[in-house]
Amino acid sequence: MGKKIIVAGLGHGGIAAAAQLARAGYDVTVYEKKKEGTLGYDWTDIFAPGPLAEAGIPMPDESKYEYKQDMTFYSPSERVALEQHVPEDDREIKMERRDIYEHLINHALECGVKIEYETEVLGPVLLGNRVVGINTDKGDYYGDLIIDACGMLSPVRMNLPDHLGIEKEPARIEYITIYRAFYNVASDEEPEAKFKVMLFKDNKLGMSWVASEEDHTDVLIGRFENFDMEEVERFTDVLRQTSPRIGREVLRGGQFVKIPVRHPLSLMVADGYAAIGDSAFMTVPLIGSGIANCLRASRILADSIISDPTDSFSVETLWKYQYNFYKSLGSGLAALAAGKLLLPKLTADEVDYFFDSGMITSDDITFGADFVGLSSMSFSFPDLLNKAKHVCKNTDILKKLPAAGARISAVTAACAGIPKRYSPDKVRSWKKIYEMPFKNY
Ligand SMILES: Cc1cc2nc3c(=O)[nH]c(=O)nc-3n(C[C@H](O)[C@H](O)[C@H](O)COP(=O)(O)OP(=O)(O)OC[C@H]3O[C@@H](n4cnc5c(N)ncnc54)[C@H](O)[C@@H]3O)c2cc1C
Repeated sequence: MGKKIIVAGLGHGGIAAAAQLARAGYDVTVYEKKKEGTLGYDWTDIFAPGPLAEAGIPMPDESKYEYKQDMTFYSPSERVALEQHVPEDDREIKMERRDIYEHLINHALECGVKIEYETEVLGPVLLGNRVVGINTDKGDYYGDLIIDACGMLSPVRMNLPDHLGIEKEPARIEYITIYRAFYNVASDEEPEAKFKVMLFKDNKLGMSWVASEEDHTDVLIGRFENFDMEEVERFTDVLRQTSPRIGREVLRGGQFVKIPVRHPLSLMVADGYAAIGDSAFMTVPLIGSGIANCLRASRILADSIISDPTDSFSVETLWKYQYNFYKSLGSGLAALAAGKLLLPKLTADEVDYFFDSGMITSDDITFGADFVGLSSMSFSFPDLLNKAKHVCKNTDILKKLPAAGARISAVTAACAGIPKRYSPDKVRSWKKIYEMPFKNY
């Protein structure tokens, strides 16, 4: 019988890795706190379909998805609107979250994965420095490897001993609070843009969207601070001034959720432990998309495990997963996370200036299905800085840009220097260099 792998939480990356490992002969069991058939949210998600194939998962039935339409980005004052122009074959797909889960779960079951629902993971079980199991409300379960797919506030990661050096909680600027609801359609007036994305709307640090669908209006409000229903009511009224289609009846959703928007974990492995998905902070730090990235990461993790003939699941062998993740995805995501730290320093007027002066163009906000962070953007940050020096007459902005550029360069250099092989000393000093720019901003 193959070695025993436990996946804590039915996160997307976890279930995709579970399928690949079960197919390769490992004995894989997933423990999920929710009831069977109740996973996900009552709304749709947008993600790149390519990574499904990378993770060995077939495309869902065509009736289950549609292609995402281009977004139109609005400046805070709404004086400027820039529309994306994503090529047809580079478009993401839009699918009900429940259907995504069903598709991934059915595939994993076919590969031989076992799933235990209604089992809440409370923390890791350790033997010395090695993670050897999970503690749950139904008792302890032991495995040779624990894959942590419990999401941003994973009780496995957050209860690991400090000396393992794995970060626990994200700082407030490192996650966004989202309110999302599908409202009835209140007006048959043609919307000015079908998928309207607004930055710093109403002087609030964050992003919101209004997507006009035939039978509903999809409203999302994302902020780097907590807010309540009173604020949702007030703000949707502000949105209604330019988007009269937003009705007053919530048809679906209507919940607050948190999404990580930060650099990936500086250490995502330990003896007997590997984190994936939101638990390792793999989302695109500006927009919070995480499905495609964790599917990509599942392939990297499964390959690292399957290619290790010793099946030791030691930190030395699992490091290959972290190394390859950073080389293909992590570096671009971390650089974008470093760039994102400029946002709290900017005022709505300054963001307006970026749009008004032509510093941001529709090319800059066109990112397709292959988007994996700053490395996929049409501009490089040094180019943007150069452009800013020539175009920008706003001295306040000009003072803020060099620090952001230096931070991005520092993070990019750190990622390029990630040690290829694990050694405690080398990794400790690499972590320090990598984490530094995110601490002092
Ligand atoms: C509202 C919202 C909208 C999003 N929209 C998009 C989008 O359009 N496109 C996109 O690409 N990404 C989107 N994301 C991000 C995306 O969902 C995640 O990045 C991605 O799913 C990876 O997260 P995850 O599966 O690792 O974690 P999660 O989605 O958090 O899943 C964790 C799983 O673990 C389970 N779990 C948690 N704690 C325990 C416990 N103690 N015991 C047992 N089980 C536990 C949870 O029930 C859940 O099943 C969105 C996220 C949110 C919250």
